[in-house]
Amino acid sequence: MREGLIERAAETLARARRVVVLTGAGVSAESGIPTFRDRTEGIWAKYDPTKLATPEAFAADPVTVQKWYDWRRGIVAGCVPNPGHHAIRELEELMRARGGSFTLLTQNVDRLHHRAGSARVIELHGTIWEWRCVVCRREVTVGARPNAEYPARCAKEGCRGLMRPCVVWFGEALPAEAMHMAEEALGACDVFLSVGTSAVVWPAAGFAATAKAHGAATIEVNRDPTPITGIVDHSIAGLSGEVLPAIVQRLKPAGR
Ligand SMILES: [Zn+2]
Repeated sequence: MREGLIERAAETLARARRVVVLTGAGVSAESGIPTFRDRTEGIWAKYDPTKLATPEAFAADPVTVQKWYDWRRGIVAGCVPNPGHHAIRELEELMRARGGSFTLLTQNVDRLHHRAGSARVIELHGTIWEWRCVVCRREVTVGARPNAEYPARCAKEGCRGLMRPCVVWFGEALPAEAMHMAEEALGACDVFLSVGTSAVVWPAAGFAATAKAHGAATIEVNRDPTPITGIVDHSIAGLSGEVLPAIVQRLKPAGR
Protein backbone atom coordinates (compact mmCIF):
# COMPACT_ATOMS: atom_id res chain seq x y z
CA MET A 1 0.00 0.00 0.00
CA ARG A 2 2.79 2.40 0.92
CA GLU A 3 4.51 1.83 -2.45
CA GLY A 4 1.39 3.10 -4.21
CA LEU A 5 1.27 6.19 -2.01
CA ILE A 6 4.96 6.87 -2.62
CA GLU A 7 4.35 6.50 -6.35
CA ARG A 8 1.47 8.99 -6.28
CA ALA A 9 3.47 11.46 -4.17
CA ALA A 10 6.32 11.22 -6.68
CA GLU A 11 3.92 11.79 -9.59
CA THR A 12 2.54 14.87 -7.84
CA LEU A 13 6.04 16.26 -7.23
CA ALA A 14 7.14 15.44 -10.78
CA ARG A 15 4.53 17.91 -12.07
CA ALA A 16 5.28 20.58 -9.44
CA ARG A 17 6.60 24.03 -10.27
CA ARG A 18 6.73 25.51 -6.78
CA VAL A 19 7.30 23.25 -3.79
CA VAL A 20 7.15 24.08 -0.10
CA VAL A 21 8.41 21.54 2.44
CA LEU A 22 7.74 21.87 6.17
CA THR A 23 9.87 19.80 8.54
CA GLY A 24 9.46 19.14 12.24
CA ALA A 25 11.07 17.32 15.15
CA GLY A 26 10.54 13.87 13.62
CA VAL A 27 13.17 14.59 10.97
CA SER A 28 15.74 15.57 13.62
CA ALA A 29 14.77 12.62 15.82
CA GLU A 30 15.91 10.26 13.05
CA SER A 31 19.38 11.78 13.49
CA GLY A 32 19.28 10.98 17.20
CA ILE A 33 18.27 14.42 18.45
CA PRO A 34 15.85 14.02 21.35
CA THR A 35 12.44 15.64 20.96
CA PHE A 36 10.80 17.51 23.82
CA ARG A 37 8.65 14.46 24.44
CA ASP A 38 11.51 12.01 24.82
CA ARG A 39 12.54 10.97 28.28
CA THR A 40 15.90 12.48 29.23
CA GLU A 41 18.63 10.61 31.10
CA GLY A 42 21.14 12.09 33.51
CA ILE A 43 21.26 15.51 35.09
CA TRP A 44 18.45 16.95 32.96
CA ALA A 45 16.00 14.12 33.70
CA LYS A 46 14.20 16.10 36.40
CA TYR A 47 13.51 19.06 34.09
CA ASP A 48 10.54 19.38 31.75
CA PRO A 49 11.82 20.75 28.39
CA THR A 50 8.49 22.45 27.73
CA LYS A 51 9.03 24.46 30.92
CA LEU A 52 12.72 25.24 30.26
CA ALA A 53 12.04 26.59 26.77
CA THR A 54 10.04 29.55 28.07
CA PRO A 55 10.66 33.24 28.80
CA GLU A 56 9.46 32.56 32.35
CA ALA A 57 12.14 29.93 32.98
CA PHE A 58 14.84 32.24 31.61
CA ALA A 59 13.65 35.14 33.76
CA ALA A 60 13.60 32.97 36.88
CA ASP A 61 16.83 31.04 36.28
CA PRO A 62 18.89 32.11 33.25
CA VAL A 63 21.89 29.97 34.19
CA THR A 64 19.91 26.73 34.13
CA VAL A 65 18.34 27.61 30.77
CA GLN A 66 21.72 28.61 29.29
CA LYS A 67 23.33 25.38 30.53
CA TRP A 68 20.48 23.33 29.13
CA TYR A 69 20.93 24.87 25.66
CA ASP A 70 24.70 24.35 25.89
CA TRP A 71 23.98 20.67 26.60
CA ARG A 72 21.53 20.40 23.71
CA ARG A 73 24.02 22.07 21.36
CA GLY A 74 26.60 19.47 22.37
CA ILE A 75 24.16 16.69 21.44
CA VAL A 76 23.39 18.27 18.07
CA ALA A 77 27.10 18.71 17.33
CA GLY A 78 27.51 14.95 17.71
CA CYS A 79 24.67 14.15 15.27
CA VAL A 80 24.71 14.14 11.48
CA PRO A 81 22.04 14.70 8.82
CA ASN A 82 20.10 11.53 7.96
CA PRO A 83 18.79 10.26 4.58
CA GLY A 84 15.64 12.39 5.05
CA HIS A 85 17.71 15.59 5.22
CA HIS A 86 19.69 14.52 2.16
CA ALA A 87 16.54 13.64 0.19
CA ILE A 88 15.13 17.13 0.90
CA ARG A 89 18.36 18.70 -0.36
CA GLU A 90 18.16 16.51 -3.50
CA LEU A 91 14.54 17.54 -4.04
CA GLU A 92 15.62 21.19 -3.90
CA GLU A 93 18.35 20.52 -6.48
CA LEU A 94 15.91 18.68 -8.76
CA MET A 95 13.39 21.52 -8.56
CA ARG A 96 16.00 24.15 -9.35
CA ALA A 97 17.45 22.06 -12.19
CA ARG A 98 14.10 22.21 -13.96
CA GLY A 99 13.53 25.88 -13.25
CA GLY A 100 11.07 25.44 -10.40
CA SER A 101 11.15 27.02 -6.97
CA PHE A 102 11.70 25.34 -3.63
CA THR A 103 11.25 26.63 -0.09
CA LEU A 104 12.09 24.70 3.04
CA LEU A 105 10.32 25.79 6.21
CA THR A 106 11.64 24.11 9.33
CA GLN A 107 10.56 24.06 12.93
CA ASN A 108 13.92 22.52 13.81
CA VAL A 109 16.57 24.65 15.47
CA ASP A 110 19.56 22.35 14.90
CA ARG A 111 20.67 23.44 11.38
CA LEU A 112 20.98 19.84 10.18
CA HIS A 113 19.29 20.94 6.93
CA HIS A 114 22.11 23.43 6.39
CA ARG A 115 24.67 20.75 7.10
CA ALA A 116 22.96 18.48 4.54
CA GLY A 117 23.43 21.24 1.96
CA SER A 118 19.92 22.71 1.70
CA ALA A 119 20.29 26.18 0.21
CA ARG A 120 17.03 27.93 1.06
CA VAL A 121 15.98 27.24 4.66
CA ILE A 122 13.55 29.37 6.62
CA GLU A 123 13.96 28.73 10.34
CA LEU A 124 10.52 29.29 11.82
CA HIS A 125 11.68 28.64 15.37
CA GLY A 126 15.14 30.20 15.07
CA THR A 127 18.32 28.30 15.84
CA ILE A 128 20.36 27.24 18.85
CA TRP A 129 23.54 28.23 16.99
CA GLU A 130 22.86 31.97 17.28
CA TRP A 131 22.49 33.78 20.60
CA ARG A 132 21.50 37.34 21.25
CA CYS A 133 21.78 39.86 24.05
CA VAL A 134 18.44 40.55 25.71
CA VAL A 135 19.46 44.21 26.24
CA CYS A 136 21.17 45.44 23.04
CA ARG A 137 20.02 42.50 20.82
CA ARG A 138 23.56 41.97 19.50
CA GLU A 139 23.76 38.49 17.93
CA VAL A 140 26.67 36.06 18.01
CA THR A 141 27.25 32.66 16.46
CA VAL A 142 28.15 30.08 19.09
CA GLY A 143 30.13 26.87 18.70
CA ALA A 144 29.58 23.42 20.14
CA ARG A 145 31.46 24.21 23.34
CA PRO A 146 29.54 25.37 26.41
CA ASN A 147 29.68 29.01 27.44
CA ALA A 148 32.89 29.87 29.32
CA GLU A 149 31.03 31.42 32.26
CA TYR A 150 27.53 31.55 33.69
CA PRO A 151 25.45 33.46 33.32
CA ALA A 152 26.71 34.10 29.78
CA ARG A 153 26.69 37.85 29.21
CA CYS A 154 26.98 40.22 26.26
CA ALA A 155 30.58 40.98 25.28
CA LYS A 156 29.77 44.48 24.07
CA GLU A 157 31.60 47.17 26.01
CA GLY A 158 29.45 48.40 28.88
CA CYS A 159 26.43 46.18 28.13
CA ARG A 160 26.76 42.93 30.05
CA GLY A 161 23.18 41.95 29.19
CA LEU A 162 22.19 38.29 29.51
CA MET A 163 22.62 36.15 26.40
CA ARG A 164 19.87 33.83 25.20
CA PRO A 165 19.55 31.46 22.23
CA CYS A 166 17.80 32.88 19.15
CA VAL A 167 15.03 30.30 19.38
CA VAL A 168 11.29 30.82 19.68
CA TRP A 169 10.21 29.83 23.16
CA PHE A 170 6.75 28.63 24.10
CA GLY A 171 4.52 31.68 24.32
CA GLU A 172 6.71 33.78 21.99
CA ALA A 173 5.77 34.93 18.49
CA LEU A 174 7.55 33.53 15.45
CA PRO A 175 10.07 35.84 13.75
CA ALA A 176 8.01 38.24 11.59
CA GLU A 177 10.31 37.98 8.58
CA ALA A 178 10.29 34.16 8.61
CA MET A 179 6.50 34.11 8.89
CA HIS A 180 6.15 36.59 6.05
CA MET A 181 8.35 34.47 3.77
CA ALA A 182 6.48 31.32 4.82
CA GLU A 183 3.08 32.82 4.04
CA GLU A 184 4.29 34.10 0.69
CA ALA A 185 5.66 30.67 -0.25
CA LEU A 186 2.50 28.88 0.95
CA GLY A 187 0.28 31.18 -1.08
CA ALA A 188 2.24 30.49 -4.28
CA CYS A 189 3.14 26.79 -4.04
CA ASP A 190 1.51 24.03 -6.05
CA VAL A 191 2.75 21.22 -3.80
CA PHE A 192 3.03 21.33 -0.01
CA LEU A 193 4.89 18.52 1.76
CA SER A 194 4.73 18.17 5.55
CA VAL A 195 7.43 15.93 7.03
CA GLY A 196 7.99 14.67 10.55
CA THR A 197 5.76 17.16 12.27
CA SER A 198 2.90 16.34 14.59
CA ALA A 199 1.04 19.38 13.18
CA VAL A 200 -0.17 20.51 16.58
CA VAL A 201 2.05 23.58 17.11
CA TRP A 202 0.62 26.73 15.54
CA PRO A 203 0.99 28.49 13.22
CA ALA A 204 2.77 25.70 11.32
CA ALA A 205 -0.15 23.37 12.12
CA GLY A 206 -2.25 25.49 9.76
CA PHE A 207 0.18 25.49 6.83
CA ALA A 208 -1.34 22.45 5.09
CA ALA A 209 -4.79 24.03 5.19
CA THR A 210 -3.40 27.34 3.93
CA ALA A 211 -1.59 25.69 1.02
CA LYS A 212 -4.66 23.60 0.18
CA ALA A 213 -6.88 26.70 0.25
CA HIS A 214 -4.55 28.21 -2.36
CA GLY A 215 -4.97 25.17 -4.57
CA ALA A 216 -1.81 23.23 -3.73
CA ALA A 217 -1.64 19.45 -3.64
CA THR A 218 -0.75 18.34 -0.11
CA ILE A 219 1.39 15.43 1.05
CA GLU A 220 2.24 14.30 4.57
CA VAL A 221 5.04 11.98 5.66
CA ASN A 222 4.93 11.13 9.36
CA ARG A 223 5.40 8.12 11.57
CA ASP A 224 2.01 8.54 13.26
CA PRO A 225 -1.33 10.04 12.20
CA THR A 226 -1.69 13.78 12.88
CA PRO A 227 -4.52 16.34 12.85
CA ILE A 228 -3.78 17.03 9.14
CA THR A 229 -3.78 13.36 8.07
CA GLY A 230 -7.46 13.66 7.16
CA ILE A 231 -7.13 16.83 5.08
CA VAL A 232 -4.01 16.14 2.98
CA ASP A 233 -4.26 14.52 -0.46
CA HIS A 234 -1.64 11.86 0.30
CA SER A 235 -0.63 10.79 3.80
CA ILE A 236 2.27 8.36 4.00
CA ALA A 237 2.99 6.65 7.32
CA GLY A 238 6.69 6.10 7.85
CA LEU A 239 10.10 7.52 8.64
CA SER A 240 11.22 10.47 6.55
CA GLY A 241 14.61 8.80 6.13
CA GLU A 242 12.90 5.90 4.34
CA VAL A 243 9.97 7.50 2.55
CA LEU A 244 11.66 10.65 1.18
CA PRO A 245 14.61 8.88 -0.50
CA ALA A 246 12.09 6.49 -2.12
CA ILE A 247 10.10 9.45 -3.48
CA VAL A 248 13.16 11.39 -4.66
CA GLN A 249 14.62 8.30 -6.35
CA ARG A 250 11.53 8.19 -8.59
CA LEU A 251 12.03 11.84 -9.56
CA LYS A 252 15.58 11.45 -10.78
CA PRO A 253 16.23 11.24 -14.51
CA ALA A 254 16.65 7.63 -15.62
CA GLY A 255 20.13 6.21 -15.21
CA ARG A 256 21.09 8.29 -12.18
ZN1 LIG B 1 24.34 43.63 24.82
